[in-house]
Amino acid sequence: EIHQIPPRIVILVTPGMGHLIPVIEFAKRLISFYPDFLVTFFIPTDGSSVKAQKKVLNSLPKFITYMFLPQVNFDDLSDDVKAETRMCLTFSRSLSSLRVALKDIMGSSRVVALVVDSFGTDAFDVAKELDLPHYIFITSSAMWLAFLLELPKLDAIYSGEYKDMPEPLKLPGCVPLHGIDFVDPCQDRMNEAYKWLLHLSKRHSYADGILVNSSIDIEPGCLKVLQDGNPDTPPVYAVGPLIRTCDDANSEETDGSECLKWLDGQPLGSVLFVSFGSGGTLSNEQLTELAIGLEMSEQRFLWVVKSPSDTAANATYFSAHSVKDPFGFLPKGFLERTKGIGLVVSSWAPQIQILSHGSTGGFLMHCGWNSTLESIVHGVPLIGWPLYAEQKMNAVMLYDMKIALKPKFDVNGLVRREDIAQVVKTLMDGEEGMKVRNKIEELKCAAVAVLRENGSSTKSLCKVALKWKNHNYKYQ
Ligand code: UDP
Repeated sequence: EIHQIPPRIVILVTPGMGHLIPVIEFAKRLISFYPDFLVTFFIPTDGSSVKAQKKVLNSLPKFITYMFLPQVNFDDLSDDVKAETRMCLTFSRSLSSLRVALKDIMGSSRVVALVVDSFGTDAFDVAKELDLPHYIFITSSAMWLAFLLELPKLDAIYSGEYKDMPEPLKLPGCVPLHGIDFVDPCQDRMNEAYKWLLHLSKRHSYADGILVNSSIDIEPGCLKVLQDGNPDTPPVYAVGPLIRTCDDANSEETDGSECLKWLDGQPLGSVLFVSFGSGGTLSNEQLTELAIGLEMSEQRFLWVVKSPSDTAANATYFSAHSVKDPFGFLPKGFLERTKGIGLVVSSWAPQIQILSHGSTGGFLMHCGWNSTLESIVHGVPLIGWPLYAEQKMNAVMLYDMKIALKPKFDVNGLVRREDIAQVVKTLMDGEEGMKVRNKIEELKCAAVAVLRENGSSTKSLCKVALKWKNHNYKYQ
């Protein structure tokens, strides 16, 4: 009987830790509820971030396997091609090898669904050819999904640049969004990156279902509309918040013992963690302001510093590590003056262990979605400082939810030292900071509940898993 053969899910994932980590967590959770499932990751690559990814992939449990698709060639691309375009091209140039790999795996096992992330919707054509149900896993918020589903309509009715829109966009159930806060590719509609985004967004409605790493407590309004609102929207399953655990991180042998040891010696809830994600970089001037601002705040801090970049806010997206020694860019005498009260580490830190450490009392962060979920799950209050991608959209939502304070950005987008000191003090020691702390604590409790056996996110996972399990497999 066909249903006795274990069902296999193939997940096609964008290179980049922010995508890889949540889909891995999803796969593990799927298998913890349905141990007969097998999962295989196919990863298109341009060769650039393989090392960091392999660290994570090599620590996977046995029933989850992975394969890098043959490396795509980018020799023809000019240097100024945007990160988003590169990502889309990595996918589109991998489609023929995806077809070969899928046929191969379908010949030897019962593949019941192809799951892609937002960048991978071009693979739907291959899935259709092979009669394979195709799903999307949104590694960002439900609001991001609502935005993508709306974008084709918005593109058709509004022809100017979005930043000049007279009214904010009101996505049903979401906080109003000004054009200036839209995801980066929407800031220049003539750029190739916008055309890609529009193309991919149009394809979201062709999915058989869309999974999103969020929950009904985190985004009640938006998810309600997505789930019950529009008959043209594919079924939406909120399965989050899925984040990595300390065990996952420990098994990757990333050495972060220095930070953790230092945290052990600090008072409870006293340390502000400062990090801008795997790809975020500041300008030289902003790095200096931040350093002095932290010093002026007189609060304890643990800061992951990357070398500054004056050209792009996502300069390290594909490598996750700084190119040069970042300590050389800090203001003179900073390290000596803050010794004892602050610890500065280079490029990368064990974030999940830091957020779950009792000494950590706040997080100045870039509003990446995974970091947001990790903060919610650990109840760490935030200062939201978005840099690139859809981070500004996330920030607008986090301010509105009152789980993040907003630093004061000047007309050039710079946060001055006095304002940094101010917002840090408020978070760690002020009344407003206390409110943010209480609010995120509430969400933390809700996050635990939705992932229990009877919780809404578990039920969504089960719904989609049963659909997959019962898929009538026709491939010969
Ligand atoms: N991360 C980490 N150490 C770092 C920076 C990032 O462990 O120094 C992890 C972080 O815990 C999160 C992921 O990398 O799981 C970053 O994802 P997110 O969506 O927050 O931001 P992105 O890096 O994609 O901008």
